[in-house]
Amino acid sequence: MYLCTLNWMKMACLLDKEQVIQAQKLLEEARKVVIVTHMAPDGDAMGSALAMYHFVNGEWRMANGDRQVTVIVPNAFPAFYNWMPAADQIKIYEGHAQECDPLLEQADLFVCTDFNDPKRIGPVGDKMMANSCPKILIDHHLNPVDFANVVFSFPEACSSCEIVYRLVKALSDHPSAIGNQIASCIYTGLMTDTGNFSFNSTSAELYDIIADLLRAGVQKDTIYDAVFNQYSTDRVRLTGYALYRKMRIYPEHHIALITLSADELDQYHYQPGDTEGLVNMPLQISDVYYSVFMREERPKPGTPKPRIRISFRSQGNRPVNVWANEVFHGGGHANASGGELFGNLAQAVALFEKTYKKYIV
Ligand code: 5GP
Ligand code: MN
Repeated sequence: MYLCTLNWMKMACLLDKEQVIQAQKLLEEARKVVIVTHMAPDGDAMGSALAMYHFVNGEWRMANGDRQVTVIVPNAFPAFYNWMPAADQIKIYEGHAQECDPLLEQADLFVCTDFNDPKRIGPVGDKMMANSCPKILIDHHLNPVDFANVVFSFPEACSSCEIVYRLVKALSDHPSAIGNQIASCIYTGLMTDTGNFSFNSTSAELYDIIADLLRAGVQKDTIYDAVFNQYSTDRVRLTGYALYRKMRIYPEHHIALITLSADELDQYHYQPGDTEGLVNMPLQISDVYYSVFMREERPKPGTPKPRIRISFRSQGNRPVNVWANEVFHGGGHANASGGELFGNLAQAVALFEKTYKKYIV
């Protein structure tokens, strides 16, 4: 138990002590741990899943003998996260179901990070829910669905990685519990979910956490460079095209809309992650407070209609999650939400134009 003494210091306080004890017990007993995170993984999804991978694979393996730990993501993650420690060990469900299904069926513990509903992980969620083994949820989205045995849900946290940090601190007083690998993963989620500390990042404690991560050896500028300065020429040109040719402004309502069709994305050899951050850019305009981005995905085999993936962003006290939820079957945070529509872009734009006046202030 030398690794597992509850370290009830400041950083752990947010977490419920009883729940930490339960999580500790589940982690100690588990032999086949599967860590899952949401579709189209972003930096917080990658960081929280991989940080838990390193923690369970390192610390808890040492303490409790052999343990198989696997991270499964529903679909591909952007290449600019390839550098993350153990990213090459991640299994991608889409296209590799045969390899992943036995792992999902035989798991004796799931650790779920950065999503609040098994639906957000697609077919992986169906397989996970068919397995009755215990589940631990670590997440910062509103209103989690009741599916996990131990729930660390804190919408007030800037990221799931912040909660992972606090949980690791609570679970271990080992001086190297947060080593360079875990610290780099956690830092990535803090950085990406706060737009490099430009929103959701006013709590002083966040900077205490960052200080601790820097002491653990995090190379913050190298991580920034790896995530934000390694784009392809096509990606940067796609951004230019989207802003120059495809951005519509509705000045009376302070809202911007960008759409990109599957053909347009093909022209720029679209790769996963290439439009990440694009939806935030119209908010740089002084009197634009809302921004919506629609991206068309070609129909998958068995689905006759294209899927339009929709991202919503807003500034200040102007929630977009109700709109995303009621009109586009999605949800999210007040200022950052997502949704979808099965149909064509023209239908999605028509629905946008029909509904925005009702949902924006
Ligand atoms: P993004 O626009 O980056 O895909 O998503 C922004 C935020 O909205 C994220 O926090 C994400 O979890 C949430 N979100 C995106 N799509 C959906 C969805 O279909 N359903 C729900 N409930 N939340 C979503
Ligand atoms: Mn997140």
